[in-house]
Amino acid sequence: VWASVPEAPPDVIFQLTAAYKADKYDKKVNLGIGAYRDNDGKPWVLPSVQQAQERLIADKSVDHEYLSITGLPTFTSSAAKLLLGADSPAVAEDRVTSVQTISGTGANHLGAVFLSKFYAFNGDRQIFISNPTWANHKAIFNSVGIKPVDYPYYDAKTIALDFEGFTSTLKNAPNGSVILLHACAHNPTGVDPTKEQWHAIADIFLAKGHLAFFDSAYQGFASGNLDADAFSVRYFVSRRDIPVLVCQSFAKNAGLYGERVGALHVISATKEQAKAVTTQLSVIQRSEISNPPAFGARVVSMILNDQKLWAQWNEDVRTMANRIIDMRKQLFELLTNKHKTPAPGGNWNHIVKQIGMFTYLGLSEKQVAKVVNEGHIYMTKNARASVAGLNTHNIEYVAQWIDKAVRE
Ligand code: PMP
Repeated sequence: VWASVPEAPPDVIFQLTAAYKADKYDKKVNLGIGAYRDNDGKPWVLPSVQQAQERLIADKSVDHEYLSITGLPTFTSSAAKLLLGADSPAVAEDRVTSVQTISGTGANHLGAVFLSKFYAFNGDRQIFISNPTWANHKAIFNSVGIKPVDYPYYDAKTIALDFEGFTSTLKNAPNGSVILLHACAHNPTGVDPTKEQWHAIADIFLAKGHLAFFDSAYQGFASGNLDADAFSVRYFVSRRDIPVLVCQSFAKNAGLYGERVGALHVISATKEQAKAVTTQLSVIQRSEISNPPAFGARVVSMILNDQKLWAQWNEDVRTMANRIIDMRKQLFELLTNKHKTPAPGGNWNHIVKQIGMFTYLGLSEKQVAKVVNEGHIYMTKNARASVAGLNTHNIEYVAQWIDKAVRE
């Protein structure tokens, strides 16, 4: 019966990881996947997570019953405060609906289904997404019949934000458009708006009645400070008339990739609306997954509600962010001062200016091919490199190959 099913193309990122694993070369480096690695290139179980899971496993009262449809209440309420601020008026006024999801991907999907059922689109059923964006955004919105439309974001010439192109698209979009925004540490470019630019973007949202669909997959990873990294989301929510949805993932900032811990938060204008939204999200969730998974949510809930674990987690997040920032500085130094490697845009400043896990190196596809095929350094064709894959043992090797590829 499946004779007519065509093979689908493989996922680029996971294909890259498979090629890396199959490679026998001892100096191989994986800069493809967006997962944190320690200075020995190993996955890192955060000490806060380690302690929380030990407590959970030792607790004989923890059973394996279903969670409720919307998830673990202590998790969803504290996750909302982490994102929106402990003193958030929206939380205090019961205007926030928070539903536990299958990590950030599930939050994006649930948010997309919710929009497709309940948002009064002005004209075409479409969402504006940054060019480029996380590849899965397109697939997720296409799958529910909402067409992804690019807005200009990254300027390859300046290796920076195309603020003019971005804001003029927002101004020219139909009123009430849905716009996807990366809360911080934009994937894949590492390019974020400044605070002043966020203010100006929010002004346009207010004037045009646009809906902000935030994706927050890297809170804490940009600056090492969880509050500072929530700036954009909190600012938009504080401008009360902008409708805001936020997808939240704990994959990266808690290193809980495989446990699938996340939430969707919908901020409504009134408590009554928030209640109705909760009931509808429950209906959608019931038919899709019935109940979200318990273990990771319990770990995060414990961390967010225990003073000692909270302090430890803040330190863990700083450790990860600082190691990445340090690797950026070292790569910049090696290319600029040691190898004096000619840079695509005139200098390598973008490596230190970009934010979060990724850097867009600015190499051409041919240069990337050389680095991958001859240097055994794996990265996507667009020269996006996960800085978390760099460490003090491999950074000189990587710099040498970038140098060779650029000079050829
Ligand atoms: N959004 C963005 C922008 C991401 O980079 C990612 C992870 N690569 C996600 C969402 C979702 O990841 P997860 O489902 O693992 O939380």
